[in-house]
Amino acid sequence: MARTKYIYNPETCRYETYYVRGKTLRKRVLIFISTALGLAIATCSFYVKKVGSFDEMRLTQKNILLKTEWHLLEDQIAKSNQHLQELIEKDDHNYRIILDSHPLTPEIREAGIGGSEKFDTKILKHYPYLLSGYTRAEKLKHQLDVEVQSFEELSKMMEERVEMWASRPAIQPISNKQLDNLHLTYGSRFHPILKIYREHKGLDFTAEKGTPVYATGDGEIAMAYFSDSYGNVIYLNHSYGYETRYAHLSAFAVKPGDKVKRGQVIGYVGNSGTSVSAHLHYEVLYKGQHANPINFFQRDLNNKEYEKLIEIGSQQDRPLD
Ligand SMILES: [Zn+2]
Repeated sequence: MARTKYIYNPETCRYETYYVRGKTLRKRVLIFISTALGLAIATCSFYVKKVGSFDEMRLTQKNILLKTEWHLLEDQIAKSNQHLQELIEKDDHNYRIILDSHPLTPEIREAGIGGSEKFDTKILKHYPYLLSGYTRAEKLKHQLDVEVQSFEELSKMMEERVEMWASRPAIQPISNKQLDNLHLTYGSRFHPILKIYREHKGLDFTAEKGTPVYATGDGEIAMAYFSDSYGNVIYLNHSYGYETRYAHLSAFAVKPGDKVKRGQVIGYVGNSGTSVSAHLHYEVLYKGQHANPINFFQRDLNNKEYEKLIEIGSQQDRPLD
């Protein structure tokens, strides 16, 4: 509460309340307003000079935020680039070597990098920091596009290889886990019935009549018929140049045109045609030429088993047809 002032009135011989009026009042009001304005201006000037305007403060804060985001973005670009380089390394030096393909050349990987049509370098050249970041991001995107195309190509190659591997004759045509049913009789041999030397273009597997005979690779049955020499015989076309034949069967489990998978039963061991006892005569042809089937058993034999097969088969070199 303002303090009340008193003044002595000689006329009334009393102290009376003092009120500021007229010039004095106006003077004091002016002094008050001037002082207040002066203080306000001084405070404002100090604030603008030392702290900055509100717009500047807002911009400064936004700038800090943008810089933080930019650093995070650059960090992400660097990490993504590292992952991509690891993928490229695997692509060139693992996957393509396994698939007998050549690594992509640097010309293919770098082609198109450096184009500026995607962003306006005229503007960005004034901001080298930004231009550098955009260039790195653009290069990463291009390399990624190339790598995506490369992986699509690898995927197609892999599908073809899987189909080819599935088609290749690669197992024994009958169950021969003891490896003692094979007669290694490929080449010129004395025919037990015709009593002449002639080329024996397959391998013989002894087995009881009715033993299941398996397709040694995926393919399509080309023929299943009776031949005077082969007896009941199946011709299996595997594509990719491979063909297998299964002779002297007692019965068929398939007919011409059937699609079969490796390991599927296609017939049964017999003694039909020019054969001295129940057995399977098995042939492999590649591009129309006979090949020794022994070279196609890797799939279900390890090295020791393969050596044992050769050893036992060599002791049983008498052809059965
Ligand atoms: Zn034979």
